[in-house]
Amino acid sequence: MTVTGLVQGVGFRPFVHRLAGELGLVGFVGNDSACVFIEVQGPEGSVERFVARLASEAPPLARVESVTTTIMAAGHDAAFRIAESSPASGPRTLVAPDVAVCADCMAEVLDPRDRRYRYPFTNCTNCGPRFTIIRDLPYDRPGTTMAGFGMCSACRSEYEDPADRRYHAQPIACPRCGPSISFERGEEVVRGTDRVLVELQRSVVAGQVVAVKGIGGYHLCCDATSDAPVERLRVRKGRLDKPFALMVPDLATARGLASIDGEEAAALESPARPIVLVRRRPDAPLSGLVAPGNPLIGLMLPYTPLHHLLFLPVPGSGSVPPHCLVLTSGNVSDEPICTDDAQARVRLHGLADGFLTNDRPIHVPCDDSVVRVVDGRVQPVRRSRGYAPLPVHLPVEVAPTLAVGGELKNTFCLASGRHAWVSQHLGDIENLETLDAFRRCVDGFRRMYGIAPTRWAADGHPGYLTRRWALENAGGVPVVDVQHHHAHLAAMMAEHGLDGSSPVLGFAFDGTGYGVGDDGRPEIWGGEALVADYRGFERAGHLRALPLPGGNAAVRNPCRVAVAYLAALGIDIERWLPAAAACDEVELGVVQRQVERNVGCVPTTSMGRLFDAVASLLGVRHRITYEAQAAIELEALAEHGALDPAAPRWSFAVDDDNVVDPGPVVRGLVAGLSSGAEPADLALGFHDAVARAVLEVAARLRPRYGSMPVALSGGVFQNTLLTRLTRVGLEHEGFEVLTHRLVPPNDGGLSLGQAIIAGHGGG
Ligand code: ZN
Ligand code: ZN
Ligand code: FE
Repeated sequence: MTVTGLVQGVGFRPFVHRLAGELGLVGFVGNDSACVFIEVQGPEGSVERFVARLASEAPPLARVESVTTTIMAAGHDAAFRIAESSPASGPRTLVAPDVAVCADCMAEVLDPRDRRYRYPFTNCTNCGPRFTIIRDLPYDRPGTTMAGFGMCSACRSEYEDPADRRYHAQPIACPRCGPSISFERGEEVVRGTDRVLVELQRSVVAGQVVAVKGIGGYHLCCDATSDAPVERLRVRKGRLDKPFALMVPDLATARGLASIDGEEAAALESPARPIVLVRRRPDAPLSGLVAPGNPLIGLMLPYTPLHHLLFLPVPGSGSVPPHCLVLTSGNVSDEPICTDDAQARVRLHGLADGFLTNDRPIHVPCDDSVVRVVDGRVQPVRRSRGYAPLPVHLPVEVAPTLAVGGELKNTFCLASGRHAWVSQHLGDIENLETLDAFRRCVDGFRRMYGIAPTRWAADGHPGYLTRRWALENAGGVPVVDVQHHHAHLAAMMAEHGLDGSSPVLGFAFDGTGYGVGDDGRPEIWGGEALVADYRGFERAGHLRALPLPGGNAAVRNPCRVAVAYLAALGIDIERWLPAAAACDEVELGVVQRQVERNVGCVPTTSMGRLFDAVASLLGVRHRITYEAQAAIELEALAEHGALDPAAPRWSFAVDDDNVVDPGPVVRGLVAGLSSGAEPADLALGFHDAVARAVLEVAARLRPRYGSMPVALSGGVFQNTLLTRLTRVGLEHEGFEVLTHRLVPPNDGGLSLGQAIIAGHGGG
């Protein structure tokens, strides 16, 4: 029989071996690159029980997709054994993600009598690195970055003992035979686990920044409880405000820093160990520079034995372990995460005061994942370590397809049949370094899964490097352009298992997506209501297109967008308005003239830009240093607002074509400001107005299309206040509401949508 699914690298063969032994069956089990194959002989009842228990009792990390059995002539096995792996062609098996160290392994790490006491690379078949160390399938030691470490006799006997937890655990290691850590500071190199950890702890106490090699790359780490080291890291990284992720030793410490509900605790402790965005306590003992202007902080728990050891006293040393560490991707701004030791030494040279490194190579870079609990459910913000490369199961068959994703927060997706392998987060592909990392990962996936795409998919934006790369490298295979917001919505349909036989009404709200207007000219879309299936979409409504200055300068300066909005809507730009006051004379004049003469402007329906404009209008944020900063701070302000039930609420004007005009809302905000209303109340009123506009468009379309599920996608819906208001309103009117659970609402989800659209014959 053959078993497919996530059955390699997760202790599946030892499990089969034990199960067969228990039931008195003989035969063998083995891996090839496509599946696990098993042959058993024994009494009929036992064989049946064996098949049933294969799926129901599989090890924690395994995912059995199918068990195919065939009856054959009796073999000659006298016992049950594990067969040699056989490389095979054809569709490949699933690769496991990297998962957090398990409780059994940690118990050993903390046990002074255990031979793995304080060993940073302890792992077993239930835990440890996978995706980042696999060079080739089938998943066996020679195919991993552990190939260079010969097993000692003790490890070898565990590896070969079917009763052992480490039976065929490919990354098996111990202090005698496995990787080891070292601390480098200039020319000085310190070795020995405890001495290295003392160096790390002393450096952190001294306020230094240390590069720490982890599972999927280097982190930069420093003490999160005082300003000086965090400030130092910000200056060196050139990262002014964007929040830093934090690692704390345990859930109890996390609870001291943030209010954490049951779902958030479960996410923090899940085997994927993502960064979880949680609400910071006002009295949290943390530097304010960790996440300036943001009520949320990103927390994660240790996921390797090394991370656990960072927070523990080193016996006999007297050194003080940290309480909370900044742990941010080890890269220079806009570059990919460092994985290679030699490169890290060069690229992180000016950023880190020391390096805690090790001699286990990282084959595949993989950033930490980020999630947020929205309405009691985990929503990915960045799907990476711990999740990738688990496939998304598709509701329809697709041809072999490579979708290259968008530009910001890029992922790509390789799909075939009912599987879509969405890559780890690769960051913003805006320069040659990131494009090169992207290309290497694409090559790796294609080799790993043995898929030769018969079509490629890309975003329609002619300026995206990923699209240009696709056009140059597809080698005669057609490249399908997939409209940006269509891709967002198809991803939603795919993850909710919709087969596309009936459409959804999707609201795709984001900052920038390439669209083509009725006159055939390029526009910036981002406030879209699309009736969509996998074959195509109809633009059923959108935010009114206004000529707004295009390009990065507008995105970085919300005050210019605000002023442009006022000019485009014909509202007087009074100097006391916070947005106007934030502009200098020159930019005020330039922006006004640009809009009035329609020079350097692009017709824009972007909801993201409207949020930026309102943030500046209300005096929240006029210039940003990271993406979506203004909208994040506007949401934070709105959470303190209140709606006066007696007061009239201003609303978007929706016309017969479902064009949504923000004029009345922007005028309402200006009037509110001039009458001295609380900005927080105005901010909440704006969120409420956007939610009601969605509801109005949905209600207007219902008679024409009947009841359709309503999908809320695009980066703007990372705003949980907006999502909640919109969802509650829609559900109250009887709409079924879809939000993202598997891929992010932001552009990290595009590749999945592109893959299913192109692979299923649309585009
Ligand atoms: Zn383990
Ligand atoms: Zn060993
Ligand atoms: Fe988008």
